[in-house]
Amino acid sequence: MTTPEARTRVSRHARSSAAGRIRVSFEFFPPQTAEMEVTLWDAIGRLAPLAPLFVSVTYGAGGSTRERTHTTVKRILSETALTPAAHLTCIGATREDIDTVISGYVAAGVRHIVALRGDPQGGAGTPYAPHPGGYINAADLVGGIKRAADIEVSVSAYPEKHPDSPTVEADIDMLKAKVDAGASRAMTQFFFDNDLYFRYLDRVRARGIQIPIVPGILPVQNFKQARNFAARCGASMPAWLAERFEGLDDDVATRKLIAAAVAAEQVLDLVDRGVTDFHFYTMNRADLVFAICHLLGLRPAAKAAA
Ligand code: FAD
Repeated sequence: MTTPEARTRVSRHARSSAAGRIRVSFEFFPPQTAEMEVTLWDAIGRLAPLAPLFVSVTYGAGGSTRERTHTTVKRILSETALTPAAHLTCIGATREDIDTVISGYVAAGVRHIVALRGDPQGGAGTPYAPHPGGYINAADLVGGIKRAADIEVSVSAYPEKHPDSPTVEADIDMLKAKVDAGASRAMTQFFFDNDLYFRYLDRVRARGIQIPIVPGILPVQNFKQARNFAARCGASMPAWLAERFEGLDDDVATRKLIAAAVAAEQVLDLVDRGVTDFHFYTMNRADLVFAICHLLGLRPAAKAAA
C-alpha cells in the first residue's frame, strides 16, 4: 500500500523532474478601452519574462475585434520578444476577406494562427451557418491558412465535447479533420476535472491523432463569470468548485487565494500525470497566472540566467 507520505514524495519528484520541461502559453483578448489597454500591457509585461512558448490574442465573436486583434498582435511583435499567435474565425467574412487578414498577418511577421470556426453571429447556442462564400468550418480554414503560408496553425479541442457536436466521436472526427488539414497543436476548452481531460486524450490518441493536446487552464478570477462561460461553452462546473467559492462574493482577497489554490492543485496534478504544456486563459490579468507558473518552476528569464 502506498502511504500519503510516499505519494507526496513521488509527486514532488515528478514535479521537480518536469520543472525544466514545462512550457506555457498565455491567451489575451484585445482591449476595448484605453484603460483595458493599460491592464493588458501590464499583464504582458509581467508575464513576458516567463518566456512563454507563444502568446495568443483572441478574435472577437463575429470578427468584431478584427482591427484590435491585429493591432495588439502587431504591437506584441514590435515591442516585445514574444511570439504572438493570432486567433482567426470563419464568421461573417468571405474567403477573400479572411485570406486578406491571413496575408496581412504573414506580411507583419506573424508565424502562428489559431484557427477556429467561431460562434454563430446570433451567439453561442444559435444555429451555425457558414458565411456565403466563406470558409465552412475550422478544418477548411486550417487548409486555407496552410495553402497561404507555411506557418504554424493551432486549433481548439473539447474534452467535454463542443455543445454543437452530437457526440464526442463527432467532435474527435472534427479534430482529426483539422489535423489532416495541417493543424499541429490543439488547446483545450477549460475544464476543472482532470480525469475528463485524460479520458478525452485516450480517445483522441486511439483515433490516431498525435499532435499535442494542450490543457487550457482558466484560473477562476471571478466565479460567477467563470460559471457563465462554462454554461455557454459546455464545460462542467463541479459542485466542489462552487462550494470552495461559496459565500465569497464580496470577499475579493479570499477569492483570489482560493482561486490560486484551486488552479495550483489542478496544474500540479496534471504535471504528476505527465503533462508538460499548459495554455492559460489569462483574462488579461497576470497575478494568478504568474503565481501558478512560479509553482510550476518557471522563473523570470533574467533571474534564471543570473
Ligand atoms: P470546431 O472544431 O469547428 O467544432 C467544434 C465541434 O462542433 C465539432 O465537433 C464539430 O463537429 C461541431 N460542429 C461544428 N459545426 C457544426 C454544425 N454546423 N453542426 C453540428 N456540429 C457542428 N471564439 C472566438 O470567437 N474567437 C476566439 O478567438 C476564440 N478562441 C478560442 C480558443 C480556444 C482554445 C477555444 C477552445 C475556443 C475558442 N473560441 C473562440 C470559441 C470557438 O470559436 C467556439 O467554441 C465555436 O463555437 C467553435 O469553433 P471551433 O473552431 O472551436 O470548433
